Amino acid sequence: MLKDIKVWVKCLKNTFRYRISQLQHTPKLAIVQVGSNEASNRYVRNKVKDCEEVGIKADIYNYPENTTEFELDDELNHLQEFYDGVIVQLPLPPHIRPQVATNAILPEKDVDGFRIDSWFKPATPKGIMDYLEYCEFDLTGKNVVIIGRSEIVGKPLAKLMTDANATVTLCHSHSKLEPYLEIADLVVCAVGKEKFLDCGKLDCPVIDVGINFDSDGRIVGDCFNTEGKDVTPVPGGVGLLTRCALLDNVIKIVETKEQNNFYKN
Ligand code: NAD
Repeated sequence: MLKDIKVWVKCLKNTFRYRISQLQHTPKLAIVQVGSNEASNRYVRNKVKDCEEVGIKADIYNYPENTTEFELDDELNHLQEFYDGVIVQLPLPPHIRPQVATNAILPEKDVDGFRIDSWFKPATPKGIMDYLEYCEFDLTGKNVVIIGRSEIVGKPLAKLMTDANATVTLCHSHSKLEPYLEIADLVVCAVGKEKFLDCGKLDCPVIDVGINFDSDGRIVGDCFNTEGKDVTPVPGGVGLLTRCALLDNVIKIVETKEQNNFYKN
């Protein structure tokens, strides 16, 4: 059974506030945005609000749409000298390859966990794993179906769940889903298509990662027929878990620095 995400997020934020109160240094996060679209602006605003709530100093750096890859690389190299963690809000304009941004951020500052050698777990998969632990959902021996094989959600989540002793089937646009869904103990849907997964036919819990906009401009997930089913809500679901995982990673950097006497060097 999945538990109430809002209650979990409230608990987490209390622990974050406590951990920050134990630190000598205020954790600092730089949020970089290139160009501007309504959805990204909202995500960035929410991240800043989260940081303020728990005591992380967050600054937004907004660069114009026509910023080049070289300019962004330079800016990131410069910025990260002054921050514990740096994130680049996706999506970037089409002329900037996401890996340019990812590779410019040092592994120890990559709190989104996008680099292969990042010191941190990727935020969305980490948020989901922490939540399942809170739900006391033991993955050992469970059949998990993950739909969507992106580098930031599906693939890293498949690894974390495999490491937690689940048997994971990672599905994508060429997969025949039905036989896998029939034997699933848990489904994670990260496709990005409204009304993609009919939950009416499923008996197991479902984590809905999707963020889509319906014809009225409202945020909806990938799942439908969710009434009476054990499905995480959208909005108010995985997005909140992801944001908390990010906060956790930022606080961890400063905790690690203080434990290692970094500030005395
Ligand atoms: P993506 O957009 O990079 O890729 C989508 C994946 O879905 C691909 O692997 C593709 O193979 C698969 N897919 C597409 N059509 C399919 C089909 N018919 N059957 C099976 N698989 C199919 O993925 P992403 O970046 O992981 O994003 C997925 C969704 O999750 C988006 O809506 C995104 O906005 C959302 N998202 C939410 C959060 C959050 O914090 N809530 C974080 C990351 C992504």
